Amino acid sequence: MIPDWSAERKRMVDEQLRKRGIGDERVLAAMLEIPREEFVPIESRVLSYADDPVPIGFGQTISQPYMTALMAQSLALKGTETILDVGAGSGYGAAVLGVLGARVISIELVPALAQFAMRNLQRTGRAGNVTVMVGDGSIGYADVAPYDAITVGAGAPETPAALIGQLRDSGRLVIPVGTRKDQSLMIITKKKGATDSRSVTQCRFVPLRGAEGWR
Ligand code: SAH
Repeated sequence: MIPDWSAERKRMVDEQLRKRGIGDERVLAAMLEIPREEFVPIESRVLSYADDPVPIGFGQTISQPYMTALMAQSLALKGTETILDVGAGSGYGAAVLGVLGARVISIELVPALAQFAMRNLQRTGRAGNVTVMVGDGSIGYADVAPYDAITVGAGAPETPAALIGQLRDSGRLVIPVGTRKDQSLMIITKKKGATDSRSVTQCRFVPLRGAEGWR
């Protein structure tokens, strides 16, 4: 039997997001719009709307829907923003950000995953304002900087200085920071050159690799 994906999507938004305090209506609408099952490998597709991260190969995962929503909400997007998404993975998070902002640069270290993300975005008609790059996003992507918002979908030992450097004044950065196994989801805001950071929740992401990540 073919699952009723739109019913599952609606249930995800109500049960996993709205009931747990995601209140940004634009975020809720974006996650109701993007077909998450199109970003999950075919063999894991039944898990598309599970309340968990889902494996996408190469030891990586597509984040739990709640985390994608919380991170997007933390960026307080209005629709005009240029956004850097570090760790494209499946491309799902980038697709959600593409609905919420004006332009998304999504950078992925593993070339095969960058391919996967790009194909998923193209198939779902989301590649218009979302570009996938292959590279080490722990040092950002300087060519398009500064960014109004930056999101990092992998846990870092510390907030990479390059990312703060590529953030526009009054921009926001959301990033899990901590050990390989436990992190705090940090929101960092930049105002007049100074930064302010606060922790939103404890979390567990796959490790950020690269020059400013885990070796
Ligand atoms: N946001 C993604 C999930 C991210 S999982 C989604 O919605 O599917 C984290 C991803 O970060 C993995 O694909 C991993 O390969 C990638 N990654 C890890 N270190 C990285 C780095 N330094 N630069 C770019 N991508 C990185």
